[in-house]
Amino acid sequence: MSHWITGQGVSAKAKGSDEPSVLIVGAGTFGTSTAYHLAQTYHDTSKVTIVDRATSPPKPAAGVDINRIIRTDYASSFYNNLAYEAWHAWFWSMELQAYFHQTGWLMMDDSKDSSLSNAIRQQYRDRGSDPTEDLSLDDLPQQWGGVLEGTDTKGFGTAYFSPEVGWCDAAGATHNFMQAAEKKGINRVNAGVARILLDEGNSRVVGVETTDGQELRADKVVIAAGAWTSSLLSPLEDTLQVSSRDRIENQLRTIGVLQIYYPVSDEEIRRFEEHKVPVIIYGQEGEVVPPHSKNKLLKYTHNHSFTNTVTTPSGAKVTCPAGSTYESQLNDIPDALKHEAETGILSRLLPTFTKGKKADHWRICYDARTPTEDFLICKYPHGNLSGLYIATGGSSHAYKFLPNIGKYIVNVLEDRSNGEEKDKAWAWKAYGWDVREKSPEHPKLGAWTPKRELRDIGSGAAQSKL
Ligand SMILES: Cc1cc2nc3c(=O)[nH]c(=O)nc-3n(C[C@H](O)[C@H](O)[C@H](O)COP(=O)(O)OP(=O)(O)OC[C@H]3O[C@@H](n4cnc5c(N)ncnc54)[C@H](O)[C@@H]3O)c2cc1C
Repeated sequence: MSHWITGQGVSAKAKGSDEPSVLIVGAGTFGTSTAYHLAQTYHDTSKVTIVDRATSPPKPAAGVDINRIIRTDYASSFYNNLAYEAWHAWFWSMELQAYFHQTGWLMMDDSKDSSLSNAIRQQYRDRGSDPTEDLSLDDLPQQWGGVLEGTDTKGFGTAYFSPEVGWCDAAGATHNFMQAAEKKGINRVNAGVARILLDEGNSRVVGVETTDGQELRADKVVIAAGAWTSSLLSPLEDTLQVSSRDRIENQLRTIGVLQIYYPVSDEEIRRFEEHKVPVIIYGQEGEVVPPHSKNKLLKYTHNHSFTNTVTTPSGAKVTCPAGSTYESQLNDIPDALKHEAETGILSRLLPTFTKGKKADHWRICYDARTPTEDFLICKYPHGNLSGLYIATGGSSHAYKFLPNIGKYIVNVLEDRSNGEEKDKAWAWKAYGWDVREKSPEHPKLGAWTPKRELRDIGSGAAQSKL
């Protein structure tokens, strides 16, 4: 019998021989974080592979952009606590701290009794330390060196400032986190995944086949494909004859929003920096993130979301990004959608930086949204299938958890509980989207369901109700 014993105890190789091989599909937020945490815990890291259709940092990912907001402001104690855990890492992690910029945020809210601002600030008070302060809407044009001059505050009832919020260079941070995992021996493959492979009895997942014909085999496969999750799983759900009610489409849906990037001069950047202009949340309309000398772009998000529903050859209805290539998914934007943003947020918020100017570029960003905005981190529950796991459902707020979410995904992969609260929140739900939408207990959540199709925007058929 051979031993792999060293002076330190059992060698990495011997311990590693018991470790199941893992294949992660998707190197966005959930996938990268999983790879990073497996790299910290696996003895034989060569058993972990991550595959993405785009090179690092993958441009199609919701988690890859010039910036993403890092906030601890949450109405629920659950995500408030999780965000503080992540926030600590944004300050102290050697791999991430260089990408984080603490600016604070100004949140303008719809009405005086708006439940969101109030609930967030109440949550801070409940935990015993509230860093936020009231701001007067009337004073905003004079604040921050007059950067907000011309901003339309009509329709807003309250405003508050939260100093802990900031933004990070999400492309840089994701790439650096991935590189840290690769340095520890994780493999990264650049290929599109065409389908999930089962064993002969359709009882176990054995890997995936890529669009260029490679087979990547592993004991465990984690689907971290974000907005593409439902379409990737659909053929497998056909094979397993999963009913429409039990399909992943009933757990999460693809949601898209438009982002607009305006060029700014060095002088304008200096003005933003000198006056410490925060991230600005413009109620439910969208947001703007300050520019930086590295990106020289002022980025707006136009929050009026949409989806794209297709019918598969088997007749299943699936939501997924619209367009046949990822470049077209990001860049083919109907003029009517651009017009909607131009006459909305772009002319109302910080208009001196957009008026008479041409955007540098536009991008549609897609994410997977769940009915409750809780993530989906679990074993795939149907068909008695072993080896298949889901890690996604970011619901437009998961990026900030890049540092820590992978730790919890690894626990699910290794059959360990994350504690009752997390297990419940991130589980496959017994009831689906349609039930939640109609539930009187969740009227607000139903309001966030994407209610219009991208293809209908401008045709008169779309109803913007978000
Ligand atoms: C406009 C917008 C703004 C947001 N702002 C914030 C914010 O400020 N702060 C915050 O915390 N969160 C924010 N979010 C949410 C956050 O970005 C997402 O929740 C998170 O990135 C989702 O992570 P993911 O891993 O599920 O998906 P992604 O990051 O999208 O990654 C999925 C990856 O899977 C790959 N993939 C998919 N299918 C395949 C396939 N078949 N083969 C190979 N690769 C595949 C894709 O290429 C992609 O790289 C925002 C989201 C959007 C859309």
